[in-house]
Amino acid sequence: MAQYRIVSGSVAVISIQNPPVNALSAAVRKGLLLSVRAAASDPLVRSVVISGHNGQFCGGADIKEFGNVSHLESGPHLVEIFESVEALAKPVVAAIEGFALGGGLELALACHYRFGHSEARVGLPEVSLGLLPGAGGSQRLPRLLGVRAALDMIVTGRHVAAGEALNLGLLDRVTDGNTVDTAVRFAQSVEGKPLDDRRLGNRPCPPLENIDAFFEEALIHARGRARGAAAPLACVQAVRGAATLPFLKGMELEKRLMETLMTSGQAQASRYCFFTERGAARWTTPTGARWDTCRARPISTAAVIGLGTMGRGITVALARAGLSVVAVETQEHQLDEAQRAVSRMLKGGGGVSYSADLQAAAGADLVVEAVFEDIAVKEEIFKQLSSVCKPGALLASNTSSLDIDRLASCTLRPEQVLGMHFFAPAHVMRLLEVVSGPRTSPQTVAAVMQLGRRMGKVSVAVGNCPGFVGNRMLKPYLEQAYFLLEEGASPELVDAALEEFGFPMGVFKMSDLSGLDIGWRVRKEEGLTGPGVTADQPMRTRHGRRYSPLGDLMCEEGRYGQKTGRGWYLYDRPGGRVARSDPWLRSFLEEYRARHGLLARRIDQQEVLERCLYALINEGFRVLEDGVAASPQNIDAIYVFGYGWPKHRGGPMFYAAQVGLARVLEGLEKYHKAHPDSPHLQPCSLLRRLVARGSPPIHKWSEVVKGHRSQL
Ligand code: NAD
Repeated sequence: MAQYRIVSGSVAVISIQNPPVNALSAAVRKGLLLSVRAAASDPLVRSVVISGHNGQFCGGADIKEFGNVSHLESGPHLVEIFESVEALAKPVVAAIEGFALGGGLELALACHYRFGHSEARVGLPEVSLGLLPGAGGSQRLPRLLGVRAALDMIVTGRHVAAGEALNLGLLDRVTDGNTVDTAVRFAQSVEGKPLDDRRLGNRPCPPLENIDAFFEEALIHARGRARGAAAPLACVQAVRGAATLPFLKGMELEKRLMETLMTSGQAQASRYCFFTERGAARWTTPTGARWDTCRARPISTAAVIGLGTMGRGITVALARAGLSVVAVETQEHQLDEAQRAVSRMLKGGGGVSYSADLQAAAGADLVVEAVFEDIAVKEEIFKQLSSVCKPGALLASNTSSLDIDRLASCTLRPEQVLGMHFFAPAHVMRLLEVVSGPRTSPQTVAAVMQLGRRMGKVSVAVGNCPGFVGNRMLKPYLEQAYFLLEEGASPELVDAALEEFGFPMGVFKMSDLSGLDIGWRVRKEEGLTGPGVTADQPMRTRHGRRYSPLGDLMCEEGRYGQKTGRGWYLYDRPGGRVARSDPWLRSFLEEYRARHGLLARRIDQQEVLERCLYALINEGFRVLEDGVAASPQNIDAIYVFGYGWPKHRGGPMFYAAQVGLARVLEGLEKYHKAHPDSPHLQPCSLLRRLVARGSPPIHKWSEVVKGHRSQL
């Protein structure tokens, strides 16, 4: 767990050994402390080098131990170990290869010198787990780098490459050679030299002017980065402690803040997200195929059909994963424009060739279709692809909602057809919904899940239904937001509630960004709006259910959102990004309400959250019941990585569990009673059954779902 050996006669080399990342488990902590004590008491030892086995320094605390207090308390605490490292009367040099993250970097900060390999990376990512560097990191790093640079690292949690770490003063030396040997030679050269000013705990923080104003601004900035998240704010407070308090007082503050975060629901939620991301890779199908048993044929060449917004991003994502890509587009100007845009994004050619002819897809292992959202156009393309493409080629569609099985039916290889639902911008967004139709083979799913991984995506296997998982759940959420406007809310009020909850953007700002015309087109195709539809039925009812035509009316006014400079908000120009309130909209809503005899009432933020989020969660339970998602964890991964659901709230299903299923059920019942014409508010039977069984914890929900037919 911590190997101890003496080299060159006087240097104790302590090497952390806990594959794969040398995490600081209880056994490692114990071994580390014993080794430090041994080095302290051995008169032959005159200096110490701390390193990690297998070219990895240390990946930090063992995340499996978080939340399991008995585990955490079973070994010595990191603070105690790092104190004894720093207090050692013999020079201690950290030899950092690979990663020094979290507790790993805090260990290095307790050493008197830090050497790094040129490929090494360091960072304090605790904030992304809803925590702060709680083993002295928040106090030692500012003393070493100064407040500004330390705060940036701690609040963003970003990884810093060795070169930058050297410039920041975090590393004393960077080497291309053997880091441990270099550290050993150096350690010998400083044996017997004074260590007092090498101990960061003894140093004051470098002074900073206008300290109050600096931290005031830092707090505002941290609040803006992740609304409603407690960890970034606690990080700022802890660093402020480093700048203003003596070391030991700062350590006490760090401990208090850490204890508050540790026991908060937010840290629990962030930790849960960490595991949902990994869990999504362990997919299964009802035929018994599993992520670990199903062999996938590797994909090395791909074709992308249609180079609009999505096709360009998909081309970039595939090329960056090392595939050679043929990009096909029939419109000449689009092809030229796409070629320039893709080259710009890839900073060069990057293995992409271009063609106006579908025949160019003949040799590809995988084809991703990304043409207009029009079933007739897509069906024609799949028919052609079926004859053009080589026999083993997989055929995928990036459709947001159309029936994968209908597309599969146009081919002679339905088992090789599936959905690859990317999110805009496709080369940036982490989520990929991998949609299996009823006839998609397990090998096809396996190959694309593996490719998703190569692209750095969080890939989630889902079943085939309108909107799949993400967009299907979004529909009731959007619908409630429209209804709230009818009942008296403003877009500003609704967005403020959702942004305070933690979404980067409220629903109306989001609609303005993606374009109101997209949903309008879909509703026209579904026969919900358009000429002839509104004439013979009431404006606010479709198929016996409440319907809000507000989005349609906006589009009829030419208000498509940012692209036209006007939507739910006003922008300074078409394509502008800064949303301002629009007085026109206020009178538009007033006239609309008057026309339909709707009385505006006061709506508070709680109702906004409950109506929008509970409707979305309710649909999530239906998705589970229908077997379209394999688990609540998969739904949560989709929402966190594709829809901006705040990580510190875990995902919609985790949030429901945290709020309490009984409370969610009660809320839905109350709102459904008030709005019986809105079936999305009617609690679904799975939710009722879960509550009837005493609301079991989220990992046990599948036992209650069982018995229903799964598509996965
Ligand atoms: P887009 O209108 O920007 O691009 C479509 C492109 O396909 C156009 O360049 C068009 O010329 C081309 N095209 C049409 N027919 C073709 C053919 N026969 N052969 C080759 N090219 C052809 O559309 P988009 O926003 O990129 O959406 C594409 C698909 O992705 C749709 O199915 C959409 O539902 C889905 N999608 C969109 C988003 C989004 O946010 N825009 C997100 C996820 C999925």
